[in-house]
Amino acid sequence: MIGEKPIIEIRKVSKKYSRNLVLDEITLGIKRGEFVILIGPSGAGKSTLIRLLIQEEKPTGGKIFVSGRDISRLKPYELPYYRRNVGIVFQDFKLLPNKTVYENVAYALEVSDESDENIRKKIPKVLEAVGLTERSDAYPEELSGGEKQRVSIARALVHNPKLLIADEPTGNLDPESAREISDILEKINCQGTIVLLATHNKELVDRLRKRVVTIKKGKIVSDMAQGRYVCR
Ligand code: ADP
Repeated sequence: MIGEKPIIEIRKVSKKYSRNLVLDEITLGIKRGEFVILIGPSGAGKSTLIRLLIQEEKPTGGKIFVSGRDISRLKPYELPYYRRNVGIVFQDFKLLPNKTVYENVAYALEVSDESDENIRKKIPKVLEAVGLTERSDAYPEELSGGEKQRVSIARALVHNPKLLIADEPTGNLDPESAREISDILEKINCQGTIVLLATHNKELVDRLRKRVVTIKKGKIVSDMAQGRYVCR
């Protein structure tokens, strides 16, 4: 894939909060099929970069291109479509407590006006992909941390996104559940979705053996491929 153009192209992106320069001319390209792990100390700027990628905030300088489009130029009516192409998973799951596993995932489709028939077709597939078929009628409070995170991954996957971003997804999980989540992310990546994982979890980084991008004080200080993984 040498010479292939990146799907995600972050070009000299900076972000300032009043006088605080949080990202300083970050340049990063991510190609089709890649799995990129973003590491760095707390406060390095990882979550800020993610907020720029999901268009929750705008850069102070530089540009982000996704599939060749400058995302700062998307029209307001295009934003919901863009956001559906980018699934996101957070440390704190963000599930709706009064809805079951099934309903939490269905809700993501209902708000985007998906037909009932499509909803009924898509949900069993994503629940199966994260190993939650048996838990579809459970409420969040009945689930373990690992299961909750798998629901939030199912919800992010239901739109079949091009890119899945996971911001510290194992931060609240025990080591065994964290490993399960990393296996699921790997499987999703093997099925063709780009994965961008921000984490402090060194065990996961060593286990996954993917490209690791290190950010410190708003700058990329290293960008290294690790090993070579063949999808099973
Ligand atoms: P990380 O995810 O690597 O821990 P963040 O992107 O959350 O780092 O934060 C980077 C820096 O930006 C921190 O110094 C943080 O205090 C600052 N920051 C983040 N969001 C805001 C905001 N909305 N307003 C002001 N400063 C912010």
